[in-house]
Amino acid sequence: MLDLKSACYVQVAVPVPMRQLFTYQVPAALQSPPLKIGERVIVPFAGRNLVAVVMHISDQCDIAEHKLKAITTRQSDEYFFSSQELTFLQQCAAYYHHPIGEVFHQALPKLLRQSKTIDIESTELYHVNKSSARCDVPLLQALQKKAPKQFALYQLIAQHQGITWAEIRSLGYSKAQLNGLYNKTLIITKKAEDKSFTWSSCQLNTQDKLSLSVEQALVVSSVLQSQTQFHCHLLEGITGSGKTEVYLQIIEAVLAQNKQVLVIVPEIGLTPQTLNRFEQRFNLPIYLHHSGLNDGERLQTWLAAKKGSAAIIIGTRSAVFSPLVNAGIIIVDEEHDNSLKQQDSFRYHGRDLAILRAKQLNIPIILGSATPSFESLHNALSGKYHHHRLLKRPSKSKEAKIELVNMAEQISEYGLSETLKFEIKQTLARQEQVLIFLNRRGFAPALSCQECHEIIACQRCNKAYTLHQQQQLLICHHCGSQKRVPKQCFQCGSVRLLPLGQGTEQLEQKLSELFTHYSAVRIDRDSTRRKGALAKLLQEVSDKKHQLLIGTQMLAKGHHFPDVTLVAVLDVDGALFSYDFRAAEQMAQLLIQVAGRAGRASKPGKVLVQTRYPQHPLLQDLIHNGYHHFAQQALIERKLAKLPPFSYQVLIRAEANYPHYPEAFLRALTQQSLAHCEYAGPVPAPMEKKAGKYRFHLIVQSPQRKALHFAIKILLDNIKSNPLNNKVRWSIDVDPADLSW
Ligand code: ADP
Ligand code: ZN
Ligand code: ZN
Repeated sequence: MLDLKSACYVQVAVPVPMRQLFTYQVPAALQSPPLKIGERVIVPFAGRNLVAVVMHISDQCDIAEHKLKAITTRQSDEYFFSSQELTFLQQCAAYYHHPIGEVFHQALPKLLRQSKTIDIESTELYHVNKSSARCDVPLLQALQKKAPKQFALYQLIAQHQGITWAEIRSLGYSKAQLNGLYNKTLIITKKAEDKSFTWSSCQLNTQDKLSLSVEQALVVSSVLQSQTQFHCHLLEGITGSGKTEVYLQIIEAVLAQNKQVLVIVPEIGLTPQTLNRFEQRFNLPIYLHHSGLNDGERLQTWLAAKKGSAAIIIGTRSAVFSPLVNAGIIIVDEEHDNSLKQQDSFRYHGRDLAILRAKQLNIPIILGSATPSFESLHNALSGKYHHHRLLKRPSKSKEAKIELVNMAEQISEYGLSETLKFEIKQTLARQEQVLIFLNRRGFAPALSCQECHEIIACQRCNKAYTLHQQQQLLICHHCGSQKRVPKQCFQCGSVRLLPLGQGTEQLEQKLSELFTHYSAVRIDRDSTRRKGALAKLLQEVSDKKHQLLIGTQMLAKGHHFPDVTLVAVLDVDGALFSYDFRAAEQMAQLLIQVAGRAGRASKPGKVLVQTRYPQHPLLQDLIHNGYHHFAQQALIERKLAKLPPFSYQVLIRAEANYPHYPEAFLRALTQQSLAHCEYAGPVPAPMEKKAGKYRFHLIVQSPQRKALHFAIKILLDNIKSNPLNNKVRWSIDVDPADLSW
């Protein structure tokens, strides 16, 4: 007979891809102090020891005693999830239909997901050595001459008095430079104080504060009016209109109340300049959260958020899980940016979760962008969000002008038109820089006729077919109809049929051949993977070591290039005819973002866009009427086509070694009729074969979010009995942002 007093069971969330909780027994020895909901325990699971999170505690259990395992250990540290955090994470899991254990896993810093106990040391802060500074004027002067970088770092440290290595590194300095100063005893380290901060107003440096324009002031006062309530504000301001200054002044007011601020930026938006701007304004603990930090640094940020010692946290999408104890406001900058959406495993959108979080915490949130996503714009235009616009630039600088180059009238070589080559030559001769965009995101190609420029389209849907090279098939991604790749154009009979967007591959090489006297540099995810690499490359660009910059979308955000006076976008046609209905939106965002970042007042920039379809209404609208107008027009089209944001989508991806499996797996799902929902597919993914696996897509779409979520639950249930369930790998993507893979 079991002693009831010592019977104790927990249901825990385990980091495995299963959508359920698991029950374990708690041995008597581990029952005191009493277990808490939200604490981390270690459980045996399929031969491994995993860190799980306690979700329910009970003294009863329906499972037979001999089938139950016992928890092995309790992670008896102070880092457990508060009930508020638990609720938030459960909402996240429910919304994305993702296994709860994996959601917790995502929310915890790596060191807290490991079964070994960790020894948390406090961060070292660098200060200048006051005693040596006074007497070492000659040493500093010598340093300034011989090691200017070290000297600059010295000045930086003097300015901040207490800066971490992570911050120093993200500002572009090396460990060698830091050690150089340390060995000369010019700087010293102190341990960060491990107590909760309350910050006084003297730490809010109001000296550099700009006096706001009327437009800006209105936004600040509107946001601050209801600081203790959830409100979502969309700040739509052209590049250079002073959005950052608006954020800073709002943040100041929030900090003045001793509340914490969370700022979420796109992966690449977190530049040294951004951090610098915050640090110059606020002499307060600012913590970073991004993929460049090591595990210890990430843990420090997490702990500082939880203890309340972090005043400001600036980070990429996963910073949304920071355990803030005393949050005052959340800001999502460049809210349109795709890197806010995680593209594997737990496919959440950082912006959308930030809104959910702000709602739960009952605090305001600001979404800022020069080119808001259609989702946010729609919510603002329909009155769901407060909509603020900044239409002027406080400085005299102008946005670059966008011009179209008609490729139908040009001979081009490797995607470079004569017009563009001429303009590049001129720009380089003026000692200015050129930025060339490559669309590597691979808008899956449509097939077009080189002679009459007809796009081969599905007759039933009036939408371009997507070319699937490998199978030599044209597939309509709207209705699934297929056709062999034709040999001739239906319109004019020409045999010159080519996919849109060819010829960019040899581009980099070709450019170096054409402009041998200039240095070309490529800035993309591959060339910037190493820590500090991006900062270094950007520095080289601003030092004008390179004249030709070749980049992907990532260069269109967060940077300003005053000496880049020519920007070329080689091919936008793929985006105009893509099966991915967001391609045109993203193309427009890219064009407007780059136009806003090139040139300066004295040297205005130019953006050349190569296209075979210069009369395309979307392009014409964008160039003549600007992004806002373009977006409104495009939203009307979306509404007619019943596409997001006027409907909601879930993408189910499936892959296997044989194409038959994923297709049949998804087709079986479509046998279930669902109220208020439609299926599109299954169709082969645009990239239909990857790493030996055949990939298929099925989209479930509904005008009602509730109906869609209900439907997904039914489908998830059905999957369990799907005969191909164990032959395919499948995943669920709620609000998919990228249909190309
Ligand atoms: P955004 O974030 O909208 O691109 P920024 O906040 O970076 O714009 O501002 C662009 C430039 O305008 C910056 O150099 C900033 O210092 C300047 N600026 C912003 N607000 C003002 C203001 N009220 N008065 C003068 N200059 C301003
Ligand atoms: Zn033709
Ligand atoms: Zn069709």
